[in-house]
Amino acid sequence: MTQPSTRILVLGAGIAGLLFTLRLSGKVARESVQITLVDEVDTFTIRPRLHEFATNQRIFSRPFSQILLQTQVQFVQGRVTSLDPSQHRVTVLDQQQQRHELGYDYLVYALGSMTDRQNVPGVEQYAYTLTAKGPFSASALRGRLPDIAARGGQVVVCGGGATGIETATQVASVYPQIKVSLVTRGALARSWDKSVADIFRQRLVNLGVEIVDQSEVSAVRAQSVVLEGGRELGCDLCIWTTGFVVQPLARESGLAVNEHDQALVDPFLHSVSHREIYAIGDAAMPVENPGVSHVRMSAFTASIMAAHGADCLSAELAGKTPKPLSFAYVAQAVALGQNHAIFLPLTPDDRPRLPYITGRLGAFTREAFVGFVVKATLAQQRFPGMFSWVGKRRYEQQLQKRTLEGHPSQQAHHLS
Ligand SMILES: Cc1cc2nc3c(=O)[nH]c(=O)nc-3n(C[C@H](O)[C@H](O)[C@H](O)COP(=O)(O)OP(=O)(O)OC[C@H]3O[C@@H](n4cnc5c(N)ncnc54)[C@H](O)[C@@H]3O)c2cc1C
Repeated sequence: MTQPSTRILVLGAGIAGLLFTLRLSGKVARESVQITLVDEVDTFTIRPRLHEFATNQRIFSRPFSQILLQTQVQFVQGRVTSLDPSQHRVTVLDQQQQRHELGYDYLVYALGSMTDRQNVPGVEQYAYTLTAKGPFSASALRGRLPDIAARGGQVVVCGGGATGIETATQVASVYPQIKVSLVTRGALARSWDKSVADIFRQRLVNLGVEIVDQSEVSAVRAQSVVLEGGRELGCDLCIWTTGFVVQPLARESGLAVNEHDQALVDPFLHSVSHREIYAIGDAAMPVENPGVSHVRMSAFTASIMAAHGADCLSAELAGKTPKPLSFAYVAQAVALGQNHAIFLPLTPDDRPRLPYITGRLGAFTREAFVGFVVKATLAQQRFPGMFSWVGKRRYEQQLQKRTLEGHPSQQAHHLS
């Protein structure tokens, strides 16, 4: 009698879910494995480029049907609405609102993150966010900004982190006729050193962006953004970029999560509460230090977790013991408008270190960096070993250091 094939269900086809799927399908091509990938959209779009897409630039996007053409992976377009780990079952609503029940032997949870639209009144009704599709998406902005520019109108960008700065500089550089204001609750770019924040500030000022810092937004209206204290900034539209949140599905399904609803995972990316569920990307958080002092939501981290997750699952299927998650941060790039960016070399622990590369050269370096993530993702099926990363021994080194210091609280993990 032939053995039934192992069913692997991947939820979410962002950078993490897609890279995982392609790498795993390359690694297990000769085994009896059936991989299904689910996403509510039918096209892969690179999120770090959505502010460019919103301002009429061409960015990479490709239908999943085309990406998966040479693979055995089945793609299902639909929205995941529930997960029942006790029955190994996921419910998906397709575009015709038909329910489908999908079973699995292994589940990969890669539903990513999104901009929080619920935290301030009016955001849900009026504000745009940098999502790929929908009435208030990057694609909708792409349609509206040229008209606003033609009228010499106003745009308010809310959020003083990387996404807000990238968006404000991009809109101001592509449409200099638009008056752009950037509103931020605290100091601009407060998670960076002063030297980096000063570069962001100077670039915004050079592009004529009004910086409204130390200002809390209390409401967004159809034609204005209202600040605490009553000041009202008139605008044609508001772009909301404050903080990424994770959807509550993992928590609602009974998976162990942290206070941000990210699924908690061990060094092999198993959910700590449900061993047959892997979690990767923005929707997951390792419970053990993987060689870096904090794990930042980013395309960089998502790619490494995805590649490592695929390596762990293929090892598990082959009855082998994988290595624990371990990596180091290397660099980060923030776009600062057309043909301009800052490229920041990072310490392994994610702190910027000199020399920074700015201007056109910074933009060129960022282009190469983002381009590599896309190419490495798409090449995974044919060359699963192509994507590697630095810092693979840091987990063990830190473990040894802690043991020598007499703090063995982070135990070495082995697959049972
Ligand atoms: C404008 C912008 C700029 C950015 N710039 C950078 C940058 O310069 N560098 C960097 O490292 N990071 C950047 N990021 C962050 C980076 O894009 C994310 O950290 C990364 O995309 C996370 O990958 P992921 O696969 O975990 O999640 P996502 O990319 O969020 O993918 C999740 C996928 O799941 C799907 N999905 C979600 N919910 C459901 C559901 N219920 N049912 C079915 N499908 C669902 C989504 O459609 C999506 O395809 C940026 C993000 C934005 C928005």
